Amino acid sequence: MDKSFSFKLKATDNKARRGEVSCAHGTIQTPAFMPVGTAATVKAIKTRDVKDSGAEIILGNVYHLMLRPTAELIEKLGGLHKFMNWDKPILTDSGGFQVMSLSKIRKISDEGVEFSSHLDGSKYFVTPERSIEIQHKLGSDITMIFDECVQFGASYEESKKAMDRSLAWAQRSRDAFQKRAGYGIFGIVQGGVFSDLRKISSEELIKIGFDGYAIGGLAVGEGQQVMFEVLDYATDFLPTTHPRYLMGVGKPSDIIGAVARGIDMFDCVIPTRSGRTGQAFTFNGAVNIRNAKHREDSRPLEKNCACYACKNHSRAYLHHLVKSQEILGSMLMSEHNIFFYQNLMSEIRKSIAEKRFSQFAENFLAQELQNEPEENF
Ligand SMILES: [Zn+2]
Repeated sequence: MDKSFSFKLKATDNKARRGEVSCAHGTIQTPAFMPVGTAATVKAIKTRDVKDSGAEIILGNVYHLMLRPTAELIEKLGGLHKFMNWDKPILTDSGGFQVMSLSKIRKISDEGVEFSSHLDGSKYFVTPERSIEIQHKLGSDITMIFDECVQFGASYEESKKAMDRSLAWAQRSRDAFQKRAGYGIFGIVQGGVFSDLRKISSEELIKIGFDGYAIGGLAVGEGQQVMFEVLDYATDFLPTTHPRYLMGVGKPSDIIGAVARGIDMFDCVIPTRSGRTGQAFTFNGAVNIRNAKHREDSRPLEKNCACYACKNHSRAYLHHLVKSQEILGSMLMSEHNIFFYQNLMSEIRKSIAEKRFSQFAENFLAQELQNEPEENF
């Protein structure tokens, strides 16, 4: 296998792209969805089942893993792949977003971020160099730069200040990254909802030079319409020769809209989090398994789904498990959703290769109108 980090664009359909990322632990067909394995586990799903879903890459998180069990322990035990027994690619989030959103106290300076752990209050100081060092110790195929995220609603001045600091940190992250064959580092475009800032951020990151480019600071509460308005121009600032990753997105309709605007990679907790609360995604709209209508339904969640839940259990059984708050209910629902997301990406990839993506998107979104209401039980 060619071990160098690379991206191949295989087909396009308007702005939608069908590609392939090659890295140290394998290749990833894009557009790709990365299940989120925050704390070295895709919540409530065995790695064997994540693999069976067709997922080719998962995401880990610097913030969570540095606090517990620590990057040093994972390195000692042979790296994150070995620790969690996942032999395919791993991308790690740099911790920037979680430090801002989860940690208790913080002081941000040009040097880095000081914060208290949300677990026990102990103090940490993270710099771009430390974040990159942690990702190296974890053995991430794709390292993310350490950046400063602003909340949705940030003013132009606040967004510009965070963008400027993030660019300085991007250079420091790049300098700290130790090049190894097959391992890559992605820059993260910031700039909020301001097109001129997004353009400057993209241009400056391209000057530094990265293996891929992520769009950060979206899906933070601005809503789908505003997110799509930003993506309408943001992808045009990025080179066609590199993968593009939209961080923290999203619902099936968000993914379809972002693919239409030229995004290649996604990650989101929605499939597992929704699974734990009783929502299942299907090609005929979302199902709320808690609804009374499923009480006696002997059909599977989705016909022709290859997941264990659909092959072995009825909606009635899942309804019973979820209503009874049985752990198995969370496991089966989460597994189905992870399979559904991979099936969705596979259908998206096929439709782009056959130049019928917009038709696929239209049909899928029409089915989504049949989503079941969430409180009808
Ligand atoms: Zn299923």
